[in-house]
Amino acid sequence: MEKIAVFPGSFDPFTVGHESIVLRGLKLFDKIVVAVGQNTSKNNLFSFDQRMRMLQDIFQDEPRVEIVTFEGLTVDFCKKINAKFILRGLRTSADFEFERAIGQVNKMLNNELETVFLLTSTNHTPITSTIVREIIKNEGDVSQLVPTALDIKKYLKE
Ligand code: ADP
Repeated sequence: MEKIAVFPGSFDPFTVGHESIVLRGLKLFDKIVVAVGQNTSKNNLFSFDQRMRMLQDIFQDEPRVEIVTFEGLTVDFCKKINAKFILRGLRTSADFEFERAIGQVNKMLNNELETVFLLTSTNHTPITSTIVREIIKNEGDVSQLVPTALDIKKYLKE
């Protein structure tokens, strides 16, 4: 059976840290579904449509990565597409505490589902979408923080 992992997040914007998790995940799974959540209470910098297009740009040459959108619970979305794994990145102990609770409750909601955590690469540990947004808002250069295939300036001009 095809091993499908869902990589959920808000990706506002997608960073080199996220990209690294997806690329490393491709060594473990047959397919990674990058799922952009719509039900976030976060204050977004990039519109939902822009984030979807950015991801399509980044993974246009990777047929094993699918970009989708979802609403509602991640566990329900996984069931719908028959994914048995949720992929998450772990940067810090704060990430761990947050992810532990979500992962354990997701397991209670669907015992068939496993959350797989990859430790972030050391050089990506300090990179967060929040910091990238702050740099962008202050007109700084984020080119080394976002994937090379992402022309972020193009999106900022829209
Ligand atoms: P969320 O809305 O769930 O916080 P994010 O877009 O911030 O979504 O992150 C999605 C996933 O990517 C999470 O598992 C997060 O831990 C992981 N992640 C975020 N930044 C990095 C990074 N720099 N290195 C590795 N993983 C990361």
